[in-house]
Amino acid sequence: AKEMGGNNYQFYTAALNEQLGERLLIEGALRQALERREFVLHYQPQVDIACGRIVGMEALVRWQHPELGMVAPNRFIPLAEETGLIVPLGAWVLRTACAQALAWQRLGQGELRVAVNVSARQMAEQDFVQSVAAALAETGLAPHCLELELTESQVMNDIEQAISVMHELKKLGVKLAIDDFGTGYSSLAHLKRFAIDVLKIDQTFVRDVTENADDAAIVRTIIALASNLKLEVISEGVETRQQLDFLRQHGCQQMQGYYFSRPVPAAEFLAVLAAHDAR
Ligand code: C2E
Ligand code: CA
Ligand code: CA
Ligand code: CA
Repeated sequence: AKEMGGNNYQFYTAALNEQLGERLLIEGALRQALERREFVLHYQPQVDIACGRIVGMEALVRWQHPELGMVAPNRFIPLAEETGLIVPLGAWVLRTACAQALAWQRLGQGELRVAVNVSARQMAEQDFVQSVAAALAETGLAPHCLELELTESQVMNDIEQAISVMHELKKLGVKLAIDDFGTGYSSLAHLKRFAIDVLKIDQTFVRDVTENADDAAIVRTIIALASNLKLEVISEGVETRQQLDFLRQHGCQQMQGYYFSRPVPAAEFLAVLAAHDAR
């Protein structure tokens, strides 16, 4: 058994070294990508169907790899989180999104707000609140035009710490949204203590909302919950007129999804705004 243990030990060391090597490789590649400015933001409009206008947009990062082409965030965000590269990457996303929102506002687009995804690792950084304040100060975007999207799991990871960070962020005047709401495991008791403004209904519930009674019940419940807690509610992943009608009937007025527009490069966003206005 001892010998087996020895072999196992060797095996594990080799595997660990290999893993470490792979991590270093990925970390190097991501760091280089940041230096070479290979990351870009795409923007997806958020529509308020009560007034029929685009009221904001979510910033979604992509990696424009010289050989692989456009890489989706699901393929590199987890790695960026593991390696810690999400911290400088997230700071870049924040500054870029704030600067872009202000640029569009100055073109006469009104109070467009921009939603930015924040990862757990980023939020756990000592100076996270300062970096948000710095992004606002450097770009000049009004704090209430920035919405930070947090997930339930990242908030539940260290509840007390998260609640304290959320309250500091609220003092800055930014808005806070819980992303993918309903897929995590936060309790209603916790929700009450979170300093949030918006519940964002996950697209997995919206997808079959017109055919699946359970999904319909979940979506109706989240909308009612938001209403009772005086929170805004927005649905993501709205792809069809039927989904839109269901959501509208049950009191959700803010929506985001392919029905309105896919996420587009910054250069195409004004055209999306213009086309929407013309509808
Ligand atoms: P998420 O925050 O839940 O973003 C919504 C995802 O759904 C986006 O995928 C978006 O393109 C997609 N989507 C939007 N409308 C529809 C629709 O009508 N139908 C369908 N099927 N999908 C739709 P994307 O851009 O690939 O982003 C995936 C995830 O990557 C995001 O999920 C978010 O968790 C993460 N992510 C993206 N950008 C950032 C970032 O800057 N920082 C961090 N930390 N995470 C990011
Ligand atoms: Ca999001
Ligand atoms: Ca989401
Ligand atoms: Ca999601």
